[in-house]
Amino acid sequence: MAEKRDYYEVLGVDKNADDATIKKAYRQLAKKYHPDANPGNKEAEEKFKEAGEAYAVLSDPKKRAAYDQYGHAAFDPNSAAGQASGFGGFDFGGMDFTDIFSDLFGGAFGGGGRTYYSSGGFGGFGGSSYANAPQKGQSIRASLRITFEEAVFGCEKEIEVNYKDTCSACKGSGAKAGTSPVTCERCKGRGKITTIQNNPFFGQMQSVSTCPECHGKGTVIKEKCPECRGTGYIAMKKRFKVNIPAGIDNGQAVRLSGAGEPGINGGPRGDLLVEVAVSPHPIFKRQGSSIFSTVPVSYAKMVLGGPLRIKTVDGMVEYQVKPGTPTDTKVRLKGKGVPMLNNRNARGDHYVTLVVEVPTTLNKEQKKALSAFAKACGEDPEKA
Ligand SMILES: [Zn+2]
Ligand SMILES: [Zn+2]
Repeated sequence: MAEKRDYYEVLGVDKNADDATIKKAYRQLAKKYHPDANPGNKEAEEKFKEAGEAYAVLSDPKKRAAYDQYGHAAFDPNSAAGQASGFGGFDFGGMDFTDIFSDLFGGAFGGGGRTYYSSGGFGGFGGSSYANAPQKGQSIRASLRITFEEAVFGCEKEIEVNYKDTCSACKGSGAKAGTSPVTCERCKGRGKITTIQNNPFFGQMQSVSTCPECHGKGTVIKEKCPECRGTGYIAMKKRFKVNIPAGIDNGQAVRLSGAGEPGINGGPRGDLLVEVAVSPHPIFKRQGSSIFSTVPVSYAKMVLGGPLRIKTVDGMVEYQVKPGTPTDTKVRLKGKGVPMLNNRNARGDHYVTLVVEVPTTLNKEQKKALSAFAKACGEDPEKA
């Protein structure tokens, strides 16, 4: 996106402008650049949004103060100013500036069923479509608990979700068997109706809105299917197989395309997003593709060296402790970590911390031997 213009400059007002002046300036710009007055005009759409954004900030005393102090950085979550202002996460992209506009004009735009589907963010108007356009169904979210090892190596699981299955009696049409939906008389099947409005700002305006009779479908059902009560689907529980890839981490999700809510107006089904919750492991900790663990080793083995069996996700591996190994020594077991999510042949490493295990109870013989060892080192354990 190009460099942002100064909000005061956008509205064409002075830095000390009062609320009424700001409101007035915005009204004029919004009227001039409103998408309804400039159908298909991208530049007007950008200007309308730019003005909406400037107004959203300058009409709010707190946001305006933050903007005066930090400029655009006040709303940047990645900048120190954004963090300081408390508006760092302020999401202009999610705002519908038509709402601000209707607030100001008290619904001068009639609102009568006119439906814009925002495609999110600044593409809002660009992605507009009327209600009878095919739309992908909503995505369903589900959560699945798996073990540490299942996340490391991947697994196949089953999950049961609430599912809306196409009604077999009416094949999803919602019309009673033997009948079919008929063309809507109100809109002649177009799904939208055109009305001429006398608007106080634009004079006579043609506006297109969703047909209230068929809600944009273009067809109406005379006799509803008794099986699904005209909805076209049956609510049920459905089980899906989920292939969890090796290397998945806590909070990541697997997408099952087409397992979500039914599409609208013949659009494709939404997706099922299965979010995994990985149970903690009693020994292993994980960070990305690395695994960490701590292994207690006897003092004698740390001093003398020797073979040590270490538990890994691949089972026990033998490691040769070097003579004179200090406590807290970190050992890397190459390739014994977690497979990379997109390349299971590449694996991370397992880092082991070797710590000296100090026995809390010793029998007579052990005590004697240890005292003898101390004396051999020239040390008297009885003395400070
Ligand atoms: Zn049905
Ligand atoms: Zn209609």
